Amino acid sequence: MKEMKVSFEIRITLQQTDVHWVEQELLRVRQEVFLEVFKRVMEQIERQGLKRMRRCKRCGRVLVRNGKERKEIKTLVGTVRINRVRLRCQRCRQDIYPLDQALGLVRRERVTMGVRERSLWAAVEVSYEKAHEFLEKFTGLEVSRKKIHQMALEEGRRIERWEE
Ligand SMILES: [Zn+2]
Repeated sequence: MKEMKVSFEIRITLQQTDVHWVEQELLRVRQEVFLEVFKRVMEQIERQGLKRMRRCKRCGRVLVRNGKERKEIKTLVGTVRINRVRLRCQRCRQDIYPLDQALGLVRRERVTMGVRERSLWAAVEVSYEKAHEFLEKFTGLEVSRKKIHQMALEEGRRIERWEE
């Protein structure tokens, strides 16, 4: 893969000078930078995926563009919103998302492995209730209790399958 060059401007207005304020402000900037770069990396991956995915894998027919569909991905630094390209095979009537395939995300998956890992770690150490608060406080992640519970169940099923 080719090297990507990413550049943009960051603006900081020094409203205060105390170190607490500076820390908070830079954490905000760090998140902004992360999300912007993440988005651009996604765009690049999608462009490459589109070049490779011209034909339907099942029937070989040329895929046509079928608009875009929004996807939200929860990362360790915040939620990224992407409008990803949807392709369609007019024979199989199937929609294909080159970005999802390149990223290795299954259709409904919306959290990264990092988020999953930390959520489960927190849920093992404390209660679901606390895990939700803990994650928000220390990482800024908003993962609902329900979602943590759901991930724990999924993980349990995965371990069961693996043990079998
Ligand atoms: Zn097809």
